[in-house]
Amino acid sequence: MVTEKENGTAPKGRLRISSYLNTVDVGEGASLLYNGFTSRIDLVPTDVARLLIDGRGWRDFSFLSPDEVLHLAGRGHLTGLPVRHEQEEFRKLAEHIFKVNEALNRRKDTKRAVAFILTYKCNLSCTYCYQNALRKTVNIPSMDEAFVDEFFRLYISKLFPRCHKKNMGFLLFGGEPLLPGNRGAIECILHYAKKHGIAVSTSTNAVLLPGMLDLIGPEEGKIQTVQVTLDGEQAFHDETRISQSGVPTFEEIIRSIRELISIKAQAIIRIHLHPDKLESTRALVDYLDREAILGNDHVYAYFAPINSFGGESVSPSYLEQFSELFQHATSIQNSPPSSFARGLARMMAPDAMKSRLKLRYCSAGAGLLRVVDPLGDIYDCYEEAGTKSRRIATLAGGEVRYFKLKDTYERRHILNMSQCLKCSIALYCGGGCMSQARLQRHSIFKPFCQQNKEFVGQTLKAYFLLNKAGKPGSVTDPVY
Ligand code: SF4
Ligand code: SF4
Repeated sequence: MVTEKENGTAPKGRLRISSYLNTVDVGEGASLLYNGFTSRIDLVPTDVARLLIDGRGWRDFSFLSPDEVLHLAGRGHLTGLPVRHEQEEFRKLAEHIFKVNEALNRRKDTKRAVAFILTYKCNLSCTYCYQNALRKTVNIPSMDEAFVDEFFRLYISKLFPRCHKKNMGFLLFGGEPLLPGNRGAIECILHYAKKHGIAVSTSTNAVLLPGMLDLIGPEEGKIQTVQVTLDGEQAFHDETRISQSGVPTFEEIIRSIRELISIKAQAIIRIHLHPDKLESTRALVDYLDREAILGNDHVYAYFAPINSFGGESVSPSYLEQFSELFQHATSIQNSPPSSFARGLARMMAPDAMKSRLKLRYCSAGAGLLRVVDPLGDIYDCYEEAGTKSRRIATLAGGEVRYFKLKDTYERRHILNMSQCLKCSIALYCGGGCMSQARLQRHSIFKPFCQQNKEFVGQTLKAYFLLNKAGKPGSVTDPVY
């Protein structure tokens, strides 16, 4: 967008705060202004940021000097456009980004992934598992070698006709993917992955991981990346992530993480945020720090609010604690504990829109991920796998047969979400989880905000503080 300052003209007439302006306090009396429309980021005194953000509508900005007004207008933080007009301009930008992203998605060298649901069975019985109901109602067999073999022979090239194999990734999912009965199918997948130079990752509860350690490691043809989940410090975790017979799992998971470190596999720790349990998350982060797990080169941890955690009405004291904890974890591992980290990693570079902006929250609808289950049904979303009415395609007779739902999901992006088009972080968020929007808000075209605004703000703050401390800040992608 060409701004007034870049155009060489001073803003004339009335001004107001851009509807897309956000701010985050970065300490020592300073705050970042970041604009979700222009992607411009500026450091200002916190009292100025407060004065700016506290009022909407046409305003008197006499608390700023003429040069400051000129600068902030040039960056898009102040605007002469009425709200509707700014929103229309934002939509035009989003339409442009949509075209760019869709063209990128069609490129042969764009990464695509197959997620194999090896089984819906699991050795654990976590209190909040989204598959609990599914396991009670359907009995789907596990994936065997014959299925995997047929999938590679007949279907993979049809699922991704425009993708070089080396640009693919495989994800092993479940249920619990590392159940002993899955070994044959996993070996088949790893064999194919080695032949074609495909990276493999898994998301596991890690309790049975030691029995599969020979299949894990940094080498080609092994599972290189392993994501495990912890719910909080031991006492809380052991209330929620338990075996079917109620046996706690914390110690076994920690043991498995140590095994991963010792063989130099990449371990990703997904730390669930539960409502009112931030103290427990804090205790877990401190424990992982003391044990030299967090901060290890082979470990990356990120926070993920569980789905029941709507987050829209969190208190200021929660936000303060959350910010402190988020930055504490960042400083230990030199990377923000956030699934938004990759998308925002380059935002701090001066004067540029260098990150790929998002029209979608995740891969659902983008055609870059296919979740395949043992019945040959294809899903666009992990959490919908196993629910037949949510399949987007099925494999049969050597062909991929698509259902209408695929087209519906393709339309799930912010251009079709009126509330998101007005949101100041829309291009960093992409509309929130589609599956949860459907379940909790009864339409996939409704937003599911969770704590996305807080995560975006804290992630930008983390990169700012890392840059300031002269630390580059590494980026690791969560498995899911
Ligand atoms: S659960 Fe939500 S975020 Fe995850 S794949 Fe499904 S739609 Fe995307
Ligand atoms: S889901 Fe919520 S936070 Fe995300 S873009 Fe939409 S309105 Fe904004």
